[in-house]
Amino acid sequence: MLVLMRQDATPDQIREVQLKIGELGFRAHEIPGAERTAIGITGNHGAIAPDVFTTLPGVDRAIPVSKPYKLVGREARPESSVITVGTSRIGGTELAVMAGPCSVESREQIVAAARSVRSAGARFLRGGAFKPRSSPYSFQGMKEEGLVLLREAREKTGLAIVTEVKDTGTLPAVAEVADVLQIGARNMSNFSLLEAVGELRTPVLLKRGIAATIEELLMAAEYIASRGNLQIILCERGIRTFETATRNTLDLNAIPVLKRLTHLPVIVDPSHGVGMWEAVPAMSMAAIAAGADGLMIEVHPDPASALSDGAQSLKPSRFTALMNDIRRLAPVVGRTLNEGSTT
Ligand code: PEP
Ligand code: MN
Repeated sequence: MLVLMRQDATPDQIREVQLKIGELGFRAHEIPGAERTAIGITGNHGAIAPDVFTTLPGVDRAIPVSKPYKLVGREARPESSVITVGTSRIGGTELAVMAGPCSVESREQIVAAARSVRSAGARFLRGGAFKPRSSPYSFQGMKEEGLVLLREAREKTGLAIVTEVKDTGTLPAVAEVADVLQIGARNMSNFSLLEAVGELRTPVLLKRGIAATIEELLMAAEYIASRGNLQIILCERGIRTFETATRNTLDLNAIPVLKRLTHLPVIVDPSHGVGMWEAVPAMSMAAIAAGADGLMIEVHPDPASALSDGAQSLKPSRFTALMNDIRRLAPVVGRTLNEGSTT
């Protein structure tokens, strides 16, 4: 159930509703909106009578939520959410571009990558320190050492750090450094990890599982939101289909569908979506044209020597050219490219 407060409801009236929800043994989630506050109720297994709330001062309506994802759905918040990370925003009219190597490999590599993506206009540096690889024999990341290097890259460039958290054991260490915690496709249904990041207030980039439906992605986001963290960015990164010519099939359908179903920002990772650098610029442009709030793109100073995902990584010069194209496309779809000062 969703309790919609009147536009002129006072903080005390909002608090009273939250107290009532707590007394009933349920959990209250305040969802502030531009016009009015909504309070989502979770923890109830049956229907709740609306008049428990409609009789309280400041309450406009109490409506049952039809979707299984109560807090991340548009019903809970009709206006789109904007996630703030330092001086950058994800959602709204600005496009957010996260770029960098698949994995942190050395100080030279990550600092060179950071400088190049920054000068091309990206505001976020991506790079995995803990890598969940399909094969146990593949490079597993520099782990704690990689986190130290990411911190250094942020100090040198002012870029916000997006890095993957692989499990609950390493979450405290990763959360110390990450400005945005990435949950990878292989972990989209790792419910303990989702709950653990839900306890934090660090923004979470949640990638769609390789065989997850849009509804499953939203339910995974709901796990995070249900613990109180509504700072969630969804990421379409391709799904597995019968097609083998590309690494995955980038599901651009997901963008307008998600934008209708949820208030959360939606970004697209064309690098994992197609698996070949040659196709990344076209699919990046297509994603922006389809309404994505931003992109996550793998960029490596020397893709041929990359320890992971070199085949889908752009060289810095190609990334710069792509950013120039995005800069021209953005106004056509009513967007701006987010590239103010980073320090
Ligand atoms: C990555 O971002 O490098 C990654 C492993 O992505 P995904 O979880 O989408 O496969
Ligand atoms: Mn990768």
